[in-house]
Amino acid sequence: MELTLEQRKVVVIGAGPSGSIAAAILKRKGYDVLVIEKQQFPRFCIGESLLSHCLDFIEEAGMLEAVQQAGYQVKHGAAFGWGDDRYVEIDFRDQFTQGKTSTFQVKRGEFDKLLADEAEKQGVEIRYQEEIMDGDFNQQRPVLTVKKHNGELYQVQSDFVLDASGYGRVLPRLLDLETPSSLAVRKAVFTHVVDRIDDPQFNREKILITTHPTYRDVWFWSIPFSDGVTSLGVVGELDRFKNYPEALEACLKQFVNEAPNLRRIFKNAQWSNPFRTLVGYSANVKKLYGKNFALLGNAAEFLDPVFSSGVTIGMRSSSMAANLLDQQFKGQAVNWEQDFSEQLKLGVETFRTYVEGWYDGRFQDVIYYKNTQFEIRRMICSILAGYAWDTKNPYVAEHKRRLNVLAEICRADS
Ligand code: FAD
Repeated sequence: MELTLEQRKVVVIGAGPSGSIAAAILKRKGYDVLVIEKQQFPRFCIGESLLSHCLDFIEEAGMLEAVQQAGYQVKHGAAFGWGDDRYVEIDFRDQFTQGKTSTFQVKRGEFDKLLADEAEKQGVEIRYQEEIMDGDFNQQRPVLTVKKHNGELYQVQSDFVLDASGYGRVLPRLLDLETPSSLAVRKAVFTHVVDRIDDPQFNREKILITTHPTYRDVWFWSIPFSDGVTSLGVVGELDRFKNYPEALEACLKQFVNEAPNLRRIFKNAQWSNPFRTLVGYSANVKKLYGKNFALLGNAAEFLDPVFSSGVTIGMRSSSMAANLLDQQFKGQAVNWEQDFSEQLKLGVETFRTYVEGWYDGRFQDVIYYKNTQFEIRRMICSILAGYAWDTKNPYVAEHKRRLNVLAEICRADS
């Protein structure tokens, strides 16, 4: 049976942050945009601590005021704790790069719905509970096959497809673009607790990243929200979980009990929400674009959760792709390799260096070192605020060399 074929200008797969931001930016430039989203919103998604830089793209998409007024927990930076005696705070207001100095910690179900609603208010059409099943990119204009909630199929043809399907990785799977991540396979176990924190050291305006007292490559996140709930999770390589209970609740509680600062901070917590786990979430692709398509956010590469860079990288990719597409539609020459892929990778590679340095201990030695010059701290702070594309920052421009040298200095003096 012939399927109905609808004609559109741009189709975006997925209404997560990458999809909503790309769709809204394109709509603001006057283009017809259809978003196809598999789930009904709000839906659960992990990735709750934002970086300051992502607010630049939220602003570009015309959503900053709505986000600022939503009552989310303000975030001014990150705190790092190791054992009971090591504690360091990084404040985004100290950063080297000119940019936003604060951001938010959000329950993603609510936040993603707010962004999608804001995109709709600007005229973007979003179809929920519809799933992209197939794609034909051999035609002059790509054709996607969509399954409706009732199981019915139809097709959409467009000038361009932006894949923002996150962990769904729709086009990487359909077009054989998957390639393994260079990072180890890790697992996360997490929940939301009613925190009832009375610890004076705990700063609700920062994400707390805790290093496990014995295994330096195991770490915890504590991400407080504005309603007395905190997202709490542990991350480590699969092997590290071997000696812990399989049941998620018992596993997370045992890990938390081993970290003295977390034991203290969460002593009154109510563990009343579901426990979840994710394994092997790092992913990569052979290329970020092709004939009439580009991959955004997690549909392309996902590095690692440790510096909360996922949403920021996603939104940055959305802004870059939407602006390039605008130029392309206006008949201007666009070099997707140079202006999308290489430009995006600049920041991704910066993050990769610090992520690798976190797990092998070099970056932890830098973070927990007390005597780092303030100017250097400001430069590191900018990266942790998400400004990992600012090549005026020597710790971006020469990330590998600078991290090695700094780690050696910190180690020698510790
Ligand atoms: P998503 O948010 O995953 O959205 C993709 C959307 O596409 C979904 O709604 C999905 O339903 C839809 N979809 C999928 N398949 C289809 C289909 N076939 N058809 C139609 N729609 C489809 N990032 C941070 O910034 N801060 C953090 O603190 C953080 N913590 C993390 C902790 C862990 C343990 C992990 C694994 C990741 C973390 N991340 C964090 C990363 C963050 O989760 C992602 O980077 C972010 O959600 C990517 O957004 P996105 O819009 O690209 O994709």
